[in-house]
Order: sequence, then structure tokens, then C-alpha cells
Amino acid sequence: MDVRAHISMVFHLDKCIGCHTCSVSCKNVWTDREGTEYMWWNNVETKPGTGYPIKWEDQENYNGGWELDKKGELKLKKADNKLESLLQLFYDPNMPGLDDYYEPWTYKYEDLFNAPLSDDQPTAIPISKITGEPIEINAGPNWDDDLGGSNLYAKNDPNLEGLSQEEKDLMMEVENISMMYLPRICNHCVNPSCVAACPSGALYKRGEDGIVLVNENKCRGWRACVVACPYKKMYYNWKTGKAEKCILCYPRLETGQPPSCFQSCVGRIRYLGVLLYDADQIPDAMKVPNHSLVESQRKIILDPYDPKIIEAAKANGISDEFIYAACNSPVYKYVVKWKLALPLHPEWRTSPMLFYVPPLLPVLGKVVNGLYDHSAREFFTSLDNARFSVRYLAKLFSAGNEEIVTYALKKMMAVRYFKRMQQLGDLDSGKVHEIMREADISEEEAEEIYKITTLATVGERFVLPPIQREEAMATKEPEVCKGCTGCGEIKEPTRGF
Ligand code: SF4
Ligand code: SF4
Repeated sequence: MDVRAHISMVFHLDKCIGCHTCSVSCKNVWTDREGTEYMWWNNVETKPGTGYPIKWEDQENYNGGWELDKKGELKLKKADNKLESLLQLFYDPNMPGLDDYYEPWTYKYEDLFNAPLSDDQPTAIPISKITGEPIEINAGPNWDDDLGGSNLYAKNDPNLEGLSQEEKDLMMEVENISMMYLPRICNHCVNPSCVAACPSGALYKRGEDGIVLVNENKCRGWRACVVACPYKKMYYNWKTGKAEKCILCYPRLETGQPPSCFQSCVGRIRYLGVLLYDADQIPDAMKVPNHSLVESQRKIILDPYDPKIIEAAKANGISDEFIYAACNSPVYKYVVKWKLALPLHPEWRTSPMLFYVPPLLPVLGKVVNGLYDHSAREFFTSLDNARFSVRYLAKLFSAGNEEIVTYALKKMMAVRYFKRMQQLGDLDSGKVHEIMREADISEEEAEEIYKITTLATVGERFVLPPIQREEAMATKEPEVCKGCTGCGEIKEPTRGF
């Protein structure tokens, strides 16, 4: 067993209001420089929709992530073929281009200030941030935000493939339309295809917390990582000729502060904490059939209360503070204990370490003849008639395994029903217990989920030890006694857990 610590995040999608504050705060901190204009390390998409870059989920086009070969072994979807790489040195058909992102622009503001007196309002024309010339804007990072032009753009969402016409109509028809928001950053995967694809060895996963970073001194600008990342969260800086990506705000984490996107999140949808995982199990965990991928990824996450795991973690140099944080991790609760949070597109087999609680709001409340549908005879059958198809959510969060999504949605429905009946003083009704039983949830668990979802303080949503990199590295070395006699005896680390 090779126990490692990982800083992970959960996004509770029912709470996201699509305000984009996270994207703007990230942009202001990290990508407000020449060469990074088009980059959004954090972006928020409307689903169904085509997203940013356009149709990033279409791996037939982009060829990102891993797949299983005929022998059942993992291989990069974009084959590591030297001759092919050489031939595609100047043109790679799988590389997203500026048209797939958008041409960044600003406005000619001086026209507003310097306009002569006139009967007409002056206007500021859009100017390309690449060429400095006037441009016509016809794409942007959130072009189909809030389903803008839904029939033009959202119908191209690759996740709609395989849904029945009725399901598609429910999501697309303007009268019935439903949507959800999907905030996205780099998933800091434990089987990162970006790292595997880099010919210069410039990408690496940081040992002490799992953050995936680029060594800019080693990067030669091959951009193999841009193609290999199926989430399209690797970017190429055209000014410096180097790759760039989300760094999970590690300089902030190292001083005990939440990442910028987390801190600014208006909906308080983000939860950050430590997970312990077994690195030895990763290759095998990623070789299982699609429908088992979520479960097999859960299994590599270790129980931080288990004394054997604690011992193995300490032997691997994981500090007491990290282990303590892992025990209190809201991410562990959402992902493993409650099984509510799921990875995004696990079928690409990168084992993403950011997780999503699928949204319940757009699922329920299907409108029939302008009225909410209360006709469901049984409580949970409303999921079968949901206006936001469970099959669609399964394509996003469980590689098509609808049971896993249904389990999470049922649990969240049961929490709502339980709290509602508690407020009405009607907890004794047999129906509450029947529903809780079917949703596999106890009253205690329902209270816990309710509290952390609705009332959690920042201290409960952000559970990390203050990390100083030097300190974390130092814990890997055994402490040597420098006491009175200078005996040089090896000591147990003294910081208490
Ligand atoms: S999401 Fe991040 S870690 Fe995962 S493959 Fe893409 S860039 Fe690499
Ligand atoms: S700041 Fe929070 S609520 Fe607003 S879009 Fe970002 S994730 Fe959603």
C-alpha cells in the first residue's frame, strides 16, 4: 500500500447560481497577462450546452484521456507515436484552435472619452486582443450561458447522444427548458493523461498534496498535454510558448487560505479537504468496465480513521496535520461516506479528484400543462418523470451508470422530505421511514447532510492544515534528537494528532 494525501474539492451543483464570480476572481489573480487572454482556468458552463472550448467533451474530435486496448491495458487515446507526432508538429487535427476557444477582445474605450460633442451616444467598438484590429464578436467563453440560443448550441451537447426524443424535447423545448451550471477547473487527476503525454517530462503531480503542476523551465511547448487532457484544462501561452494550467492556488493553500475560486464563491458550493488514497491501486482501478469506474475510484480512497491506514500514511511521511484534516474532510464524507459526490466523466479514466453532487432542482418539478407534476403515485417515481433526465446526468457523472446517480438523487430527496416533515412535526408518519429506508439514509445522516449543505461555516467547508511547503517536506525526514547530549537518536514527530 502506497498511501498518499490529496487535496480535493466537491462542487454542490444545487447551490451554484451561475454568477461566474469564481471565474472572474481566478482570471484576475492568474490569467490577466499577455498570452493568457483566452484562458479560463475556472469556467462555468450551462448544461445542456457546448461549453468551453466548444464541444470539449467530444473525444472523437479531441482525442483526450485514456482508453483500454485489446489486451485491457490503459493507453492514451492519442497514441504516443513518434512518427505521427513529428508529422503533426505544425498541425495537429486534435488540437483545439482559437476558433474552438474564442478570440479574446476588449473595447476601444478611448472612443467614449474622446468623442466630440454630438447628438448621438458614442460607442466603443470591440478590438481583438490578439491582433489589435476591430473584430466582429461571434463567440465567447460563455456563448451559450443560461441556454442563450439553446436550439442552436445546446442541441450539440455530446451528452445528449443516446437520449430518447422525448427526453431531449424535455430539455430543449423553450416551454419546458431546464438547465444546470457546471463550474470546471483542472481535476488534478490521479491518473493524469496530461502528465503521461508530455514528451519533456515538464508536468508532474506534487508529492505532498497531489496538485498537478507544470515545470515551466522544462516545458518546450509541444502542447501534447493540451490534446491529452480530455477536460481541456491545459492551455498554451502564445506569448511565452509554455503550457499553463490551474495550480489550485497552491501559494494560497500553503499559507492556509482557500483557493481564489473557493473564497469568492457566492453560492458557497465548494468544499475542500484532504483525501488519503492508495497509489498502488490506481492502474488496476482504471481498467474496469465503464459502469464500475465510480465504485472502483471510490475504493482507492482510504478510510482515514483506520489505524492501519494511519500507520501506513505516517510511514509514507504524511504529517499528523494532514491525517487530522483527512479525518475531518467534507470531501471524504460527500464522496465515500454518503456517496453523493461523483467524478466528472470518469470514462476518460484519468481518475479526476474533484467531485460533483449532481443537481436535484432541475431534475424535479417537471411542468405539465403549465403546472408542476404532482401526479407521481410513489415518491421516487418522480425521478422517472424528471424533466432533467437521469440518463443525461449519468453520462456526465458516472460513465452512464444510472443507478449511481439515482442513489445520490434519492438520498437528497429523502433529506428534503425528512426536514420538511420534521418542520411540520410529522416525523412519525410511516411514509418518512419508508422513504428514508429506500434511500439508504438514517435520520442522523440526513441531519449531517442537511447541516453541511445548508449551514456549513467556512471552517467546515475548508478543512486543511496550514501548509508550509518546507514544513511538509521536512516531515518526510525523520526528526533527529538535538537535545542535551546530541545523541542523534531518531525521534517520532512531535506535532500532535
Ligand atoms: S484535468 Fe488537469 S490533471 Fe486531469 S488531465 Fe486535465 S490538466 Fe491533467
Ligand atoms: S461563484 Fe460559486 S455560485 Fe457563482 S458560478 Fe462560481 S461556483 Fe457557481
